[in-house]
Amino acid sequence: MDGALIGRRYESSAAAVDSTDQLAEKHEYQAEVNRLMDLIVHSLYSNKEVFLRELVSNASDALDKLRYLSVTDPELLKDGPQLDIRIQSDKDNGVITITDSGIGMTKQELIDSLGTIASSGTAKFLKALKESQEAGMDNNLIGQFGVGFYSTFLVSEKVVVSTKSPKSDKQYVWEGQADSGSYTIREEKDPEKLIPRGTRLTLYLKHDDKGFAHPERIQKLLKNYSQFVSFPIYTWQEKG
Ligand code: ADP
Ligand code: MG
Repeated sequence: MDGALIGRRYESSAAAVDSTDQLAEKHEYQAEVNRLMDLIVHSLYSNKEVFLRELVSNASDALDKLRYLSVTDPELLKDGPQLDIRIQSDKDNGVITITDSGIGMTKQELIDSLGTIASSGTAKFLKALKESQEAGMDNNLIGQFGVGFYSTFLVSEKVVVSTKSPKSDKQYVWEGQADSGSYTIREEKDPEKLIPRGTRLTLYLKHDDKGFAHPERIQKLLKNYSQFVSFPIYTWQEKG
């Protein structure tokens, strides 16, 4: 695909500029998300591999949503009828991209979904965490409840979400880093990165977790955790 898979770090100033000179807006996470991120980034939780299951399940949900809505609104499929999930890995650089052709997110949906506790599962996780801490227990809560999208930070130092809703004519890019209380949003202007519809996540794996970008590892995780997903999942690897 593209040769620009290596991450560039944003400065933590109020407004950051990316390599293509577009302004990125800085947004603060909701306080609960900060707490959750902090826990995930610093957790000693060993079953980090659940991240792939969470992301594939989000991709599948997004495809389901599009399929359902397109029954009454066929225009939503105007950018192509395909409904699938593509996972590309670059083991040399420790990068995984997961692309779905689902419903995507508008700019507001990005802010609402990936900056707040949108998921009831995640809210339950935080509640259980508080209760277990009060009771002085140390439960395996991440595994028990799942932490959805934020589980990407179990293995990633940086996550880029580029997404295009059929309701919007613009594609937006959300970028977040482990250990930072904020994320940025900018418009996707690089023509090579435009997608017709849906969402592409790019995970820049932490040094010790780069092994997750090995194609055999991905295949194994998909087999173990995502075998009942009802959309095709294609995988391929970057040529070394
Ligand atoms: P949940 O899936 O339980 O709602 P997540 O933390 O996994 O919680 O995801 C939060 C929200 O982010 C989702 O509800 C959805 O609105 C949005 N989202 C995440 N991934 C995608 C995706 N691939 N396509 C569209 N929306 C997504
Ligand atoms: Mg989810």
